[in-house]
Amino acid sequence: MSKKLIVANWKMNLLREEAGRLTREIIKSLETVKSDLEIVLAPPFVSLDVVGNLISGTNIELGAQNVFWEKSGAFTGEISTSMLEDLGCKWVVVGHSERRHILDEDDQMISKKVEAVINSKMNCILCVGETLEEREKGKTTKFVEGQLLSVLTELEIEDLSKLIVAYEPVWAIGTGENATANEVEYVHSFIRDILNGVFKNSDDIRIIYGGSVTAENLGDIMSGEFVDGSLIGGASLNSESFLKLVKIAGD
Ligand code: PEP
Repeated sequence: MSKKLIVANWKMNLLREEAGRLTREIIKSLETVKSDLEIVLAPPFVSLDVVGNLISGTNIELGAQNVFWEKSGAFTGEISTSMLEDLGCKWVVVGHSERRHILDEDDQMISKKVEAVINSKMNCILCVGETLEEREKGKTTKFVEGQLLSVLTELEIEDLSKLIVAYEPVWAIGTGENATANEVEYVHSFIRDILNGVFKNSDDIRIIYGGSVTAENLGDIMSGEFVDGSLIGGASLNSESFLKLVKIAGD
């Protein structure tokens, strides 16, 4: 059974000095907690080095928020999997809704990114989730199914534990509105069925939830049978709230 996973997505926040300060605070506060969780910090690219150096020797791991699918070449502004590995990254978030909706990443691009990460030494956190409009039309599962299948049917993967699915309803990200524990459980169980359909036995693939997670709602959400962790944005930018979430997830 894989460990539960907690991923801090710092998005486009914090200058290097601030990222270093928050990392030091998180390391210090986590020293007081005994938990059997996998914990990942995903700072902006420019702070990967700072954060990576600070967490080296701890049980916190380094993650990136994005990647490009080609290995090298004339792709101005892009970052490859080997560049991330070189910085010590073990995890990459792919297909975050902010990249899908603000940067126009489509399922084809996301599929290539997932494949690149799966073929690297790193683990891939594939984000899926419906918009408010799809939810209101009752199309949540249909939509999530489409997002998953467009990536998974192309994917050859030997070690399933390298893939994590993050269910992140778009309407819940950064809005203060979270899916209820029942809603999360329902969609996660649906995702599990899709994964089992594609891979026969998908037990090694963890399914985590993200969307306005706080100390008030994480306990309920994580109590669900199909919830293997959480991807946390806003509440991971403060060491005290992050510590609370780690404690709750580790209970
Ligand atoms: C996220 O960044 O993936 C996220 C879920 O953000 P927040 O926790 O702020 O909603």
